[in-house]
Amino acid sequence: MNKIVYGLIILSFLTSCKMKHQADFLIINAKGYTVDKDFSICSAIAVKDGKILDIGNDNYIIDNYRSAQILDLKGAPLYPGFNDAHCHLSMLGIGLSRVDLRKASSFDQILERLKQRYDQSNPSYLAGDGWDQTLWGSDEFPSNSKLNELFPDIPVVLFRVDYHAVIVNEAAIKLLGITPGDSSIPEGEAIMENNKFKGVFLENTADRFESILPEPTTHEWASIILTAQKECFKNGLTSITNAGGTSSIVAVMEQLNNEGALKIRTNMMLTPDPDNLEKFSSPYTNGRLRIATIKLFADGALGSRGALMLEPYSDMKSTKGISVITSKEFERLCKWAYDHDFQVAMHCIGDAANRQALNMYSKFLKSGNDRRWRIEHAQIINPKDIELFGKYSIVPSIQPTHATSDMLWADERVGERLEDAYVYKELLDQLGWIPSGTDFPVEDVNPMYTFHSAVYRQNLDFVPSEGFQMENALTKEEALRSMTIWAAKASFEENLKGSLEIGKYADFVVLDKDIMTTAGNEIPEIKVTMTFVNGEKVYEKE
Ligand SMILES: [Zn+2]
Repeated sequence: MNKIVYGLIILSFLTSCKMKHQADFLIINAKGYTVDKDFSICSAIAVKDGKILDIGNDNYIIDNYRSAQILDLKGAPLYPGFNDAHCHLSMLGIGLSRVDLRKASSFDQILERLKQRYDQSNPSYLAGDGWDQTLWGSDEFPSNSKLNELFPDIPVVLFRVDYHAVIVNEAAIKLLGITPGDSSIPEGEAIMENNKFKGVFLENTADRFESILPEPTTHEWASIILTAQKECFKNGLTSITNAGGTSSIVAVMEQLNNEGALKIRTNMMLTPDPDNLEKFSSPYTNGRLRIATIKLFADGALGSRGALMLEPYSDMKSTKGISVITSKEFERLCKWAYDHDFQVAMHCIGDAANRQALNMYSKFLKSGNDRRWRIEHAQIINPKDIELFGKYSIVPSIQPTHATSDMLWADERVGERLEDAYVYKELLDQLGWIPSGTDFPVEDVNPMYTFHSAVYRQNLDFVPSEGFQMENALTKEEALRSMTIWAAKASFEENLKGSLEIGKYADFVVLDKDIMTTAGNEIPEIKVTMTFVNGEKVYEKE
């Protein structure tokens, strides 16, 4: 072999090696919805340092990248990690942190589960959810005597599966301060035995025991939030917007973020308490935590007639709902946000609440602005007001499952105004994009339900068969965008995440069926098989 040929072989060997770049891992053989501008499909991704290094078809990625770790998805569908644009992580965690009493087949089994929790975490109280005495072989309520023996010092409150009854111990009764014969207890709401409380209370008296459960300690909050994070990963969420946080919750989130325990990307809205406003005088981003929004309330909820309406309720002419903020206070907080480059997000359900927010926002915002001030829920909009969203670039943040949860009774409250409610397509048309979420734990965490509700406008019983006010349904592509790239845009993060594109975070979710092609009535049953955040597998289905 002459020297020149030998040299060329070496050179070509070197260049071919050089061509193959090292990646941390490769995903191949996926049906990957990139959710990029063209809604293109990919089959392979190279991941490095928590980001998408490259993307394309299998041959291209395999020819150009090497890694000891190759994940063959065998054709399974892959999406950008889902993002819930409005939810409450700590409240989800509170629900999950209670001892799960569901399907217990005896009261002894319940005691066993409580004891186990007590031994694990030595808590200052015990709360449990989901007992059902009809599964215990006898329909009779138990007495609290065994609870008192086991837990003489800490309050124990156990909610029945339907939340219409509780079993509590003596310590809990003492803390609430009720005694047998107490006039504050309506007839029949305390189960008695030999003129003493048996420890079972019903209805309003049962509800009163919520108030004695102590505020968790900082340490307890941390574990509550991590429990909720786990639930999010199981549901394919890699990002959330937490719709409000007091300074103490924000401190817990910061601590978890600093420790690296907070893995879900969290856009934390602030409750505008003085501590929060003093501490965060400009937008803050660090690791997985972002803080750049204040969360305000204009009104209450529709079900309890707290939503603020322009005209009286159809089923109670004496009320138009409840306003929960004065114009002066609202203006003060908008000015603070405007001056500090913060986003404002306001909870608005009724048409009067939405009008109040739209009018106030438009005082501060010029047309064509990029402040992305948001209206959370944007539930009932007077038709005259809807163009203000587009005119002042105000972002409607919607929860598609609210439409399908409320549709069965909302017309009683608002009558013909129901036509102006849950108008998601009309709202989408205002800016050409719209973020969606669930408001969990008000609704279920599951993003499949959001997708199903947005597209089919049916509840989980597939009612109504033709869909509710279908002119406001989203297409599948729009629904998927609302859960990914548009949710990212609502927190100014569309260049970092929300689609599978080079340079973005390696946040993905793999499902067992493709939401884009599966029949509507099978969508709620679709399961997450894997969730990745920053290239790290944070959930895998067993
Ligand atoms: Zn909420």
